[in-house]
Amino acid sequence: MSRIAYVNGRYCPHNGAAIHIEDRGYQFADAVYEVCGIRDGKMLDEEAHLNRLDWSLGELEIPWPMTRSALQVTMREVIRRNRVRHGMIYLQVSRGRARRAHSYSAHMNPALVITATSTPRPQNAQVLPQPVSVITQPDIRWQRVDIKTVALLPNSMARHAADNVGCREAWLINAEGKVTEGSSSNAWIVDQQNRVRTHPTNGRILNGTVRQALIRLAKQEGIEVSEIAFTPQEAYEAKEAFLTSSNALVQPINQIDGHKIGNASQNEISQQLWRAYYIENQIAP
Ligand code: PMP
Repeated sequence: MSRIAYVNGRYCPHNGAAIHIEDRGYQFADAVYEVCGIRDGKMLDEEAHLNRLDWSLGELEIPWPMTRSALQVTMREVIRRNRVRHGMIYLQVSRGRARRAHSYSAHMNPALVITATSTPRPQNAQVLPQPVSVITQPDIRWQRVDIKTVALLPNSMARHAADNVGCREAWLINAEGKVTEGSSSNAWIVDQQNRVRTHPTNGRILNGTVRQALIRLAKQEGIEVSEIAFTPQEAYEAKEAFLTSSNALVQPINQIDGHKIGNASQNEISQQLWRAYYIENQIAP
């Protein structure tokens, strides 16, 4: 089946879909995006994604390309046309097209692109996937990573470094020696006191939608979450480590910079959090 993309008001074959060469997203990374997981044909954490899109657009004074409800209808239509049951939807809003100049007008026509991709369904969605390894890399990003812009070159470079050594993700280390987040995911550990630790949302991380859900669910489950950043050393000594993203959801980690983490066969707290997420979202087994 050929894939269909939505580009500025039109549904078109994915292969021929194009944006103008003077789109500011292309020239200045002047664009924001969202990636939303799809399970059983439904979007996960839809409201949280739209709220974050609203935040990103607002911080950059990019107008909404259409109303929130029209966008929801269009996203559903892209999922339907691509017959995605399990996968993800990508949407990108750029400030739009203008003759190349650094400054911009706050009244441009934003460009909207939406695509949907099917991914393989796991054998058993109730259990966590097989653990993966991560490495650490310096966090060389700009200071507004709370805005979900397409300026992802530092993230890409860190991920490339991880790929080169056969690791799934790179955890980024800031100037204070703390783990901020992964190149495309949030970073978590369960420390020796059984506290779930993740970096606070102080502008130096992207506030992940799965992160928001897990913090809420942890409270319901009586699991202590402490939004206090941790060092790589604390991560090496952690009982459990995992990452979260709309793509991976909850992904256990068994090695960081070559150090084995906890007893990888247990991952009790990660599994409990995953179970709570899984039940809340009524994901099919
Ligand atoms: N941090 C970064 C840098 C990311 O790119 C992502 C993925 N969008 C996340 C965290 C996780 O966010 P979410 O849970 O909304 O996918």
